[in-house]
Amino acid sequence: MSTGTIEQKIGTFFQSHPGELGSIVTIAEKIQAGIRAIAPFIEQNTALVCPDCARVCCSGGHAAYSLEDLVYVHALRLQTVEYEKAEADGPCPFLSTGGCRLGRDLRPSGCNWYFCGPLYDSMESQPADRYREFDDSLKDLVELWMGLIREFAGRYQEVTGEAMLITDLAGTSCRKAGIPEGRREDILPL
Ligand code: SF4
Ligand code: SF4
Repeated sequence: MSTGTIEQKIGTFFQSHPGELGSIVTIAEKIQAGIRAIAPFIEQNTALVCPDCARVCCSGGHAAYSLEDLVYVHALRLQTVEYEKAEADGPCPFLSTGGCRLGRDLRPSGCNWYFCGPLYDSMESQPADRYREFDDSLKDLVELWMGLIREFAGRYQEVTGEAMLITDLAGTSCRKAGIPEGRREDILPL
């Protein structure tokens, strides 16, 4: 049984089994492509609403990678970034006058999947076909994200014999997708 924090176990798993994780990498690559594909539509709308925002969502020091984010980051061999502990009401260290300095595909999912009311309203007010295309892509990304975690949990258990990660990752991914606890067993290999 491996030791260390869950974060360390995820990193060690990817480093130790690079040849056996192709299916996880394939899903992560699709997610990355999907995030890049929807970025222009999101940014078209953040350019409209964010400059006048009175309560910028990148304040508050809440940005950090979830455990699922680390699966995605390690699968793609991306360089993770360190989030210094920001002041409770201070800006994220990656916030610049031009917006976030991180590529969208490297931002924590809490940043990528957060759409405030004005931003959502702005997106919905775009031509219907563009909004529908965005909405469909977002749903596809949620499915892919859940698939990534399922695949990772299954492969992790197969290779290490440990099931502990499944429960932990399932909990956080379900909270992200808004799925009630009682329904987790419908979608996850518990
Ligand atoms: S996304 Fe919404 S809350 Fe965040 S800075 Fe833009 S307008 Fe403000
Ligand atoms: S990482 Fe980027 S999007 Fe996320 S809180 Fe920081 S500046 Fe905002």
